[in-house]
Amino acid sequence: MDFFDKLSKTASKTYKMTTQKTSKIAKEAKIKMQMNEHKAKIQSIYEEIGKKVYEHHVNDDDIDIDIEAEVEEDCIQIDELCDRIEEERKELLTLKDKKQCPNCFYEIDLDFHYCPNCGSEQEDRYCKDDNEKNNNENTNNKENED
Ligand SMILES: [Zn+2]
Repeated sequence: MDFFDKLSKTASKTYKMTTQKTSKIAKEAKIKMQMNEHKAKIQSIYEEIGKKVYEHHVNDDDIDIDIEAEVEEDCIQIDELCDRIEEERKELLTLKDKKQCPNCFYEIDLDFHYCPNCGSEQEDRYCKDDNEKNNNENTNNKENED
């Protein structure tokens, strides 16, 4: 009786975790899709700017037109899109339980104290208060590595 009770509890817990994981993956996919759309939009604006600049070069009549002012709006659009992509990227990191090294922008796990890529020390703003435990673990890991 106890055994089956335990079993069903575990099963429902696993189910819950799986659903959470699935919705996380779905959310991740959605954000990635948005990011790609925004990146594609930036590409097309780049092309638009290039075209304007070239046409300005070809058409001598346009000599009075201030090309920088002409493309200013396009540049602002790119700025906005970049901001949105940045937000989406942060959202993705949070979903994956990761943080980014402020020095080299390498993606690292939330509980890492040093960046595995550049070795710089990480701010512990995301870390739980288990520094002591981690220190002990680090010492153990060092022994294992040898
Ligand atoms: Zn780094």
